[in-house]
Amino acid sequence: MVRNGNQFDFDFIVIGSGFGGSVSAHRLTEKGYRVAVMEMGRRWTPENLPHTSWSIHRWFWRPTLGLRGFFNMRFFKHATIFHGCAVGGGSITYACTLLPPPEKVWESGSWTGLSDWNAEMPRHYETAARMLGITENKILGPADHLLQKAAEAFGVGHTFYCTKVGIFQPAGGVPGEIVPDPFFGGEGPDRSACIACGGCMIGCRFGAKNTLDLNYLYLAEKHGAHVFPETKVVDVKPLDGASDGSAGYEVSTVKSTAWIRHQPHHFTCRAVVFSASSLGTMELLFRLKEKGSLPALSSQLGQHVRTNSESLIGARTPGGSQDVSLGIAIGSGIYIDEHTHIEAVRYPNGSDAMGFLTTILTDGRPGPQRIALWLKNVVVALLRHPFKTVRVLQPIGWAREFVILLCMQALEGEIEMRWRRPWFWPFRKFLVSRGKKMPTYIPKANEFARKLAQVTGGFPMSMLPEILFDIPGTAHCIGGCVIADSSTHGVVDDHHRVFGYRNMYICDGSVVAANLGVNPSLTITALAERAMSFIPPKAETNANHAASGTRDHLAPGRPA
Ligand SMILES: Cc1cc2nc3c(=O)[nH]c(=O)nc-3n(C[C@H](O)[C@H](O)[C@H](O)COP(=O)(O)OP(=O)(O)OC[C@H]3O[C@@H](n4cnc5c(N)ncnc54)[C@H](O)[C@@H]3O)c2cc1C
Ligand code: SF4
Repeated sequence: MVRNGNQFDFDFIVIGSGFGGSVSAHRLTEKGYRVAVMEMGRRWTPENLPHTSWSIHRWFWRPTLGLRGFFNMRFFKHATIFHGCAVGGGSITYACTLLPPPEKVWESGSWTGLSDWNAEMPRHYETAARMLGITENKILGPADHLLQKAAEAFGVGHTFYCTKVGIFQPAGGVPGEIVPDPFFGGEGPDRSACIACGGCMIGCRFGAKNTLDLNYLYLAEKHGAHVFPETKVVDVKPLDGASDGSAGYEVSTVKSTAWIRHQPHHFTCRAVVFSASSLGTMELLFRLKEKGSLPALSSQLGQHVRTNSESLIGARTPGGSQDVSLGIAIGSGIYIDEHTHIEAVRYPNGSDAMGFLTTILTDGRPGPQRIALWLKNVVVALLRHPFKTVRVLQPIGWAREFVILLCMQALEGEIEMRWRRPWFWPFRKFLVSRGKKMPTYIPKANEFARKLAQVTGGFPMSMLPEILFDIPGTAHCIGGCVIADSSTHGVVDDHHRVFGYRNMYICDGSVVAANLGVNPSLTITALAERAMSFIPPKAETNANHAASGTRDHLAPGRPA
C-alpha cells in the first residue's frame, strides 16, 4: 500500500527527548512537520522533583524495582555509565556545563574531512548556545574558591576559569525572583533567577536551570509536537514490505513504568529520528538488527564508544566551617596539564547518598595491590585520626563537606559495545563492553586532590568502585553510531542519515566520532542543529513524501 502524508500518524517520530531529540522535535515542528516524541522517562515539575538524593525512588531510574526517577547508572566491565532518563533527557539531571571542544576534535575520528567542520560548526554552536541560554557562571561558591586556591598552590592558578552554564543568572538579578520569559521574546515560560542551592543534579525546583523542557522541548510542544512520556520504543519496522523504509515505519511502544499491563501501541510515520542517547540508541538498534526489524544497519554499530577518560576524586573536610554544597553544580574548572581538565562539582546540602561510594584516596596500580593499599590506608587513617576517619567514611554531611573533582582527559581511547549473552545470565542478550581497560587512576589528578585536601584541612578521597572493581565512572558516554563516509566505517553519514535506510536519522551523543575532552551536551545540541538544517520545510517537499522525496533524504549510495 502506498500511503500519502496524512495516512501516517505522524510525519516524524523522535525516539528520546534529550538534547538531540528536543532539538529535532523543535526544528521539525518549526518546518511544519507533525512530530511525536516517545520518551521512556517521566515528566518532572518543581512539585514532583526530589529535595535530596535520599528520595531514591524519585531520583533513581529502575522501574522494575519501583524506582521511577530520572538518573540511571549502568554497570559494564569497562565503565559505570551515568545517564538521564526523563522528559528533557539528561538535561533534568545534568550539571549544565556547556563547553565547546577544541577545534582539533574535528580532525580526529571517522568524521574527519567529511565537511569543513571548523567553518560550519561555529554558527551551530552559536544557535545552540542562544537556545540553551549559556552564560558565564557568576556565582562562585566555597568549592570554587577552594579549587582556585588549590590550583594556585599547585602552580596552575592561571588556568582557573568560571564555567559556561545553562542557568538563568541575570546580571544584578535578585535570587529567586520570577521574571517573564527572558530568552525567547515572550514565547517561552516564566523563569526564576538561580538561588545557588547546588541542586542542579537533583533537578532544579526553582525554574533557574535551562532544562530542555523549558526551551527546545517547550517550544516544540507549543508548536504542536506530541510528547508521550513513560513510553518506551521497543520496535521500529519498515512498512508495507519496503525493506529500506521508503514507505515509512511502524514504531511500537510499551509503557515503561508498568509492572503488569504494558499497554502496547503501534504508530506509523514517514521518518524516524533515533535520539535515545549513545547507550539507548545502541541498545535499541542492536535489538532491532538482531530481531530482523532493521537488518541492514551497519556492522559498525557499537564501535568507537568513548567516555572522556574520567575519574572522580575530591576532598572531604568533616566538621568544616564552610558549606561547600552552595553554588551551582559545576561552577569552575582548571587544567592541571595539557590533557587533564578538572571541574569542581557539588550536590545540594542533604544529598548524601553518594557518600556510600567515596573512600580514602588510594594510588597504585589497579587490581589486588590497589585494594590492599586501600585497606592499609584506611587502617592507618583509623589509627592516626579515629574520630575524623569514621566521620569521613560515613555519608551524613557528605554533600556539605565534600568538594568533588571531576577529572577528564582528552586522550584518545575507546571501547566497543556488543550484543551478547553475559556468562552470568545466559537467558537473554545485553549490551556488553569490550576493549582495552580505561585508567581509573590518574596520578597527577590524585596529587591535585592531596593539594586540595591540604588547602581545606580535610582528607583526599577516591571513588570506592574505582578501587574495588577498577572500573571508572562516567557521565559522558558518546559514540557507538558514529558519523563516517560509509557503512564500512560508521552508522550515519555527515547529515546523520542512517546507512541502509531512508528517512531514518540519528541525532544524539552516539554519532560523536572523537573524544571531546569536555562535557558533550553543547556539541550534541550543535550537531543536531546542523543535522536538522539539512531537512527542508514540509511545504517545500512533495506533500506525499514529506521526508523522502528529495535526494537529500536518501542514504548515500542509494538511487534517488
Ligand atoms: C549526573 C550527570 C551530570 C551531567 N552533567 C553534564 C554537564 O554538566 N554538561 C554536559 O555537557 N553533559 C553532562 N552530562 C551528560 C549529558 O547529560 C549527556 O551527554 C546528554 O544528556 C546526552 O544527550 P543525548 O541527546 O545523547 O541523550 P539524552 O539526553 O541522554 O536523552 C536520551 C533520552 O532517550 C530516552 N530513551 C532511551 N531509550 C529509549 C527508548 N527505547 N524509548 C524511548 N525513550 C528512550 C531516555 O530516557 C532519555 O531521556 C551529565 C550527565 C549526568 C548523568
Ligand atoms: S543552583 Fe539551585 S537554583 Fe540554581 S540552577 Fe542549580 S538547582 Fe536551580
